[in-house]
Amino acid sequence: MKKFDPATNIQFASALGDKRGVNPAICDSATFTFNKAKEMTDTFHGETEGMFLYSRHWNPSNLALCTALAAMEGTELAWATGSGMAAITCALLHEVKSGDHIVSSMTTYGGTFAFMNNYLKKFNVEVSFVNFQDLDAVKKAIRPNTKVLYTETMNNPLLRIANIPELSKIAHAAGAKLLVDNTFTPMIFSPYRLGADVVIYSMTKFVNGKNDCVAGAICGSAEYINSLIDVNDGTAMLLGPVLDPMRSTSILKNLSTLHIRMKQHGANAMYLAQRFKETGLKYNYPGLPEHPDYELFNSMKNEGYGYGGMISIDMGTADRASAIMEKMQELGVGYLAVSLGYFKTLFSNSGKSTSSEVPEELQREMGMSEGLIRFSVGLDNDIENTFNLIVEAINATK
Ligand SMILES: *Cc1c(COP(=O)(O)O)cnc(C)c1O
Repeated sequence: MKKFDPATNIQFASALGDKRGVNPAICDSATFTFNKAKEMTDTFHGETEGMFLYSRHWNPSNLALCTALAAMEGTELAWATGSGMAAITCALLHEVKSGDHIVSSMTTYGGTFAFMNNYLKKFNVEVSFVNFQDLDAVKKAIRPNTKVLYTETMNNPLLRIANIPELSKIAHAAGAKLLVDNTFTPMIFSPYRLGADVVIYSMTKFVNGKNDCVAGAICGSAEYINSLIDVNDGTAMLLGPVLDPMRSTSILKNLSTLHIRMKQHGANAMYLAQRFKETGLKYNYPGLPEHPDYELFNSMKNEGYGYGGMISIDMGTADRASAIMEKMQELGVGYLAVSLGYFKTLFSNSGKSTSSEVPEELQREMGMSEGLIRFSVGLDNDIENTFNLIVEAINATK
């Protein structure tokens, strides 16, 4: 059997445009016409092939992007949303009703945590936040009404790795689904192939990689995606957070360079990790054997895509972290900004930004230091120079 390779799968999933343009045409239409009235009725009921009804449901440009995303993930289908949060909230709401229960990793993206901790209360859905590194704790948190196990493959900002094969077994034994946010590690991990039921992306980050839009995706079986966009009770169809086709066309082109970018992000982050280690800085990178999940990472990864572009250093206090970040920006290391997966290096203090929705008490329980600087390492051609500038910023702020 040929090995599963996300980039090669995308290469062979591409569609030509009208008039044989090498990129699929942008289908700039909200609605679609039919020759026969019966075709419209049949399309409404999902009984036609290759026909489109209305762009909140499907659009040819979105389908071209989603075909490539599904190829990348090894799923049958995918559906593109207007943001990562739209993907997460639709996927979660689709699985639960009032009285149901979710077991979530306590380290998730701040918006995801806020949605589960605050917003889902409106619907009487309870969420238990558990340390997902402790599989026994996950098992113990499961109740008869547990419908979803939720985690990120590589979590934010501690870069711990979730054991997807084991979590999948635990979820399925309990009759629950495993939903996985793979935003930090596209191509590196293929969670669906490892047993997850649904894979979610914020395409705002690495997948698009240009920081020119917010977008998201939900990947899964054809049956699942079709239920999500069912005209009668599909959460995505009824809440309607569909991605605009112009944007999906632009993201599709960027998807074709994702493998090259992931390799470069990973190589640069690995270089920094090794130099941080030599320098004696308190760093965190899952690509070095000191990381507690190094073995797990290796057992789950697709070969050849590296260990990701995320790395963090702990500078002790928030004040120190702020001073260093300001200096790094001044020196041109990159930008003091939230988000990740951009071609330039971005850095932020997680506790004060992307995880600020997580109460400080829980941040400490997660093992987050207030002086943590999280880097999304860019595609820098001279990463040694970048390292020297980081050291300069650290020394200048002592
Ligand atoms: C950014 C991010 C999200 C939210 O995505 P948006 O596109 O900003 O809505 C969700 N999960 C993770 C891991 C993220 O980094």
